[in-house]
Amino acid sequence: MQVAKTVREVRAWTKLARADGKTIGFVPTMGYFHEGHLSLMRRAKAECDLCVVSLFVNPTQFGPSEDFQRYPRDFARDAAMAESVGVDLLFAPEVEEMYPEGYQTYVEVTEVTRRLEGAARPGHFRGVATVCTKLFNIVQADRAYFGKKDYQQLKVIQRMVKDLNIPTEIVPCETVREPDGLAMSSRNVYLKPDERQAATVLYRALCAGRDAILAGERDAKKVKVLVEQVIATEPLVKTEYVDVADAETLEPLTDLQGEVLISLAARVGVARLIDNITVTVPD
Ligand code: AMP
Repeated sequence: MQVAKTVREVRAWTKLARADGKTIGFVPTMGYFHEGHLSLMRRAKAECDLCVVSLFVNPTQFGPSEDFQRYPRDFARDAAMAESVGVDLLFAPEVEEMYPEGYQTYVEVTEVTRRLEGAARPGHFRGVATVCTKLFNIVQADRAYFGKKDYQQLKVIQRMVKDLNIPTEIVPCETVREPDGLAMSSRNVYLKPDERQAATVLYRALCAGRDAILAGERDAKKVKVLVEQVIATEPLVKTEYVDVADAETLEPLTDLQGEVLISLAARVGVARLIDNITVTVPD
């Protein structure tokens, strides 16, 4: 596995790869790898000749009171994990490489960013869209792999790639969970043992919402209240929002039909966790 710290190095590497006729699969990450990240890398490796991973804790997608400074980082561990699944190039730039002095260009996706995480974290998706545009231009991959764990992010990137004619195919990947259902996340390291146990309520609540829909519930409000009630049984978990939306547009629904997204954000100790589930409403 090669490690690149600069855009120049990546360009030189990808130029050779393309001259060789190789296809490139790309996985953008903020590091502190877990099985969710590795599943994306394995899939990229299986579907493309070469796999490029970026590891960059992107400051522009964190709000001023968020966890940019204390976001978990362990380069040696990440590099070993990436190498173990066959990653060919690990791009790990410093902040100054991505945002040198005088930097002033940002990408804004206006509609699909309005609700949910976009409303809870002003500026977050502007940072995500900007860094992904830069990374797509740097790597020029054939395909880029994104987890459904960050469902709205996936929709934002799909919209942006379409709108800006970025010639990289976006591949959505399933959420990887711990055996007890908790969605894997780098932020799970913030959880104390009792909080880690309490956090399992989030997936149970999403499953309760899904099961209610599969059992015939068509009132979005009732599904939302049910999910909230399940979470409320856990005193260590504070719900920030529970939302029931159209899975394509992310617009809120009243009567459920088609493909539905149930998504949530919650505080568990110092950790802010998000999770979601999609349900196809039976006819
Ligand atoms: P992050 O490092 O958290 O920015 O995530 C990098 C990529 O990994 C994003 O596309 C995430 O959606 C994806 N990802 C994070 N957690 C999971 C998970 N539990 N299952 C699948 N993909 C994930």
